[in-house]
Amino acid sequence: MTKILVVGGGAIGLLSTWALARAGLDVVLLESGATGREASWAGGGIVSPLYPWRYSPAVTALAHWSQAFYPELAEQLLELTGADPEVHVTGLFWLDLEDETEALLWARAQGRALHPVDMAAVRGAVPVLGEGFNRAIHMPGVANVRNPRLVSALRLALETLPNVTIEEHCAVSGFLHRGGRVSGVQTSGGEREGDAVLVAAGAWSGDLLANLGLALPVEPVKGQMILYKCAADFLSSMVLAGGRYAIPRRDGHILVGSTLEHVGFDKRPTDEALASLKASAETLLPDLIGASVVGHWAGLRPGSPDGIPFIGPVPGFEGLWLNCGHYRNGLVLAPASCQLLTDLLLGQEPIVDPEPYAPTARLSVR
Ligand SMILES: Cc1cc2nc3c(=O)[nH]c(=O)nc-3n(C[C@H](O)[C@H](O)[C@H](O)COP(=O)(O)OP(=O)(O)OC[C@H]3O[C@@H](n4cnc5c(N)ncnc54)[C@H](O)[C@@H]3O)c2cc1C
Repeated sequence: MTKILVVGGGAIGLLSTWALARAGLDVVLLESGATGREASWAGGGIVSPLYPWRYSPAVTALAHWSQAFYPELAEQLLELTGADPEVHVTGLFWLDLEDETEALLWARAQGRALHPVDMAAVRGAVPVLGEGFNRAIHMPGVANVRNPRLVSALRLALETLPNVTIEEHCAVSGFLHRGGRVSGVQTSGGEREGDAVLVAAGAWSGDLLANLGLALPVEPVKGQMILYKCAADFLSSMVLAGGRYAIPRRDGHILVGSTLEHVGFDKRPTDEALASLKASAETLLPDLIGASVVGHWAGLRPGSPDGIPFIGPVPGFEGLWLNCGHYRNGLVLAPASCQLLTDLLLGQEPIVDPEPYAPTARLSVR
C-alpha cells in the first residue's frame, strides 16, 4: 500500500496525514473547504475530557497517551514551522462537582494527580473567581492547546513533506468501489484514486458513509463559545462549574464555553447562547461583567455513541478506513487516534488495544 486519500482536513485528518506521510506513504488530503476551519478551529482545546471519569476506559486510554505526547508534538511543530501551538499547562479546578467521589476514585485507580482543595487555596490561585462556590477539586497538570494555531502549524508542517498533496475546496461526494474494494473517491474536482481511503470528515462522516449504504452513528452536535481579551495574568488556571468553563490562553484571551445543541448542520451563533454563555462567564469570573465579548462562534462536534471514536478498517469494504466520531474530545484524542490508525494501517504493533474503536460491529447497513 503506497497512496492514501484522506477525506477531511480537521485536526484528525491533518494529524493522520502527518503520521502516515512520516511513515513513508504518499498522502493526498482532500478538504471541502479550507483545512482546519471547522470543529478543530472552533473547539476550546482543553487537553483532557471535561469530566474524564465519566468516560469509558477506551477514551481514557487515548487521552492519556495524547496528554503525554502533546508537549513533544508542539515542540516538533514549532521547530519545523515556527508556528507555536501554545500548549499551556494551567491546571483545572472543578467547582461544586456532584460526582466528586467518583472523580477521586477514578483518579486514584488511574494514578492521576487530582485532589480536593479548600476554597481558600482556590481563591489564592484564582483571585478573580466568583463568590458562592463551596468545594473544589484540582488537577494541576492539565493543559490547553491553542487549537487554531495547532491546525495552522500542522498545515505548515505538511507543506514541508514532499509526499503530501493538499487539495482544498475539493469536496468528496462518493466512493469508487467495485467487488467490495474501495479504490478512490468522487470529488467536486473529479475522481481521485488511491490504495486506501481514510474518512476523517468529522461531523460529516456519517453522511459520507451513507453513500455506501452504511449507517455510521456520527452526528453533528453544535457547540457555541465566546471570547474575552484580558491582561495576560488575569486568569492563571482553567475553571469549570455547572458544565461551563473558562480557558486562559497565554496572551490573556479567555474562552468561555460551551453549549451542546442537537440542531443538525446549522452552525450559526445565536443571541440566546451568547446571553447564556455571558451569564456563565460572569458567575465564574465577575470581573468580566461589562467586558466586551470579542468573539462568538459555533462549531459542529462529531457526536458518537459514548464519545468513542471509530478507528480502523470498514468491514466489507476493503481499502476503506475510518478515524472519526471524536465528539467532545477530538483535540485531546487526536495524537493517539492518528497514531493508532497509522499502526493499524501499516500492520504495526498498536499503541493501545484497538478493539474498542473498531468499526466492526458498530456499523450497520442502512
Ligand atoms: C465549542 C466546542 C468546544 C470544544 N472543546 C474541545 C476541547 O476543549 N477539547 C477537545 O479535545 N475537543 C474539543 N472539542 C471537540 C473537537 O473540536 C472535535 O472533536 C474535533 O475538532 C474533531 O476533529 P475532526 O478533524 O474530526 O473534525 P473537523 O475539525 O470538523 O474536521 C472535519 C473536516 O472534514 C471536512 N469535510 C467534511 N465533509 C467533507 C467532504 N465531503 N469532503 C472533504 N472534506 C470534508 C470539513 O470541512 C472539516 O474541515 C470542542 C468542539 C466544539 C465545537
